[in-house]
Amino acid sequence: MRLPIIAGNWKMNTTIDEAVTLVRDMLDKLDRIAGVEKVLCPPFISLSAVRALLLDSSIKLGAQNLHFEQKGAYTGEISPPMLAGLCEYVILGHSERRQYFGETDEIVNRKVKAALKAGLKPILCVGESLSENEAGKTEEIVTRQIKGALAGVDFTRDLVTAYEPIWAIGTGKAATGQQANHTIGLIRHTLSDLYGEPAAQAIRIQYGGSVTGANIAEFISQPEIDGALVGGASLKAPDFISIVQQTADAKQA
Ligand code: PEP
Repeated sequence: MRLPIIAGNWKMNTTIDEAVTLVRDMLDKLDRIAGVEKVLCPPFISLSAVRALLLDSSIKLGAQNLHFEQKGAYTGEISPPMLAGLCEYVILGHSERRQYFGETDEIVNRKVKAALKAGLKPILCVGESLSENEAGKTEEIVTRQIKGALAGVDFTRDLVTAYEPIWAIGTGKAATGQQANHTIGLIRHTLSDLYGEPAAQAIRIQYGGSVTGANIAEFISQPEIDGALVGGASLKAPDFISIVQQTADAKQA
């Protein structure tokens, strides 16, 4: 049994004050939901403040990115050791990083290695664009991204993967549960090629892309889907709580 994991990716939203308010709005209810790992990923500048609020709770903290170098002349960047004492998870390879910041599979691979070396747990995102999807290239793309990101990386249970079709992110057009389950099954197959079947069965794979309280049940009822990476809906306390609660209910049923 894989423990479901719901992570909220706040992206470039919330000032420090807004982040604190958002956490306060969801903290008690979220904390009480058992049987689901809960992760909040605010912007870098809010990590310390959010960490202080989460200290005695069951809610984990994650960052949205890191640089693969340990330190040095990389103005504006944040290194793995800087995050290591602060949070447990880090989102890597998000399609927005690939699209707007030129992150290649090779860069994502360096980041995955650097994160694991620092004791951080990567949430590794993969997913195809609309044109790749329409050209029937989904399997080819996600397989390339998984193999590229994990080249030279030993199996670890600390790895979480997220299948996020780009056409579903922030568009309100989520994949269907069946579509997501199918592609996540392919991703697990690739993980099995890399690490063997028992290891692949131990790695959690989330779906991400326009997940809300209204559609989470469709995803979480699928056998291959172990949770969700949630963008927009993670910025609204009642929606995020509902997503986590429904996940707990479905997986405990
Ligand atoms: C994301 O950014 O990871 C995401 C899935 O966003 P949204 O839920 O808003 O589609």
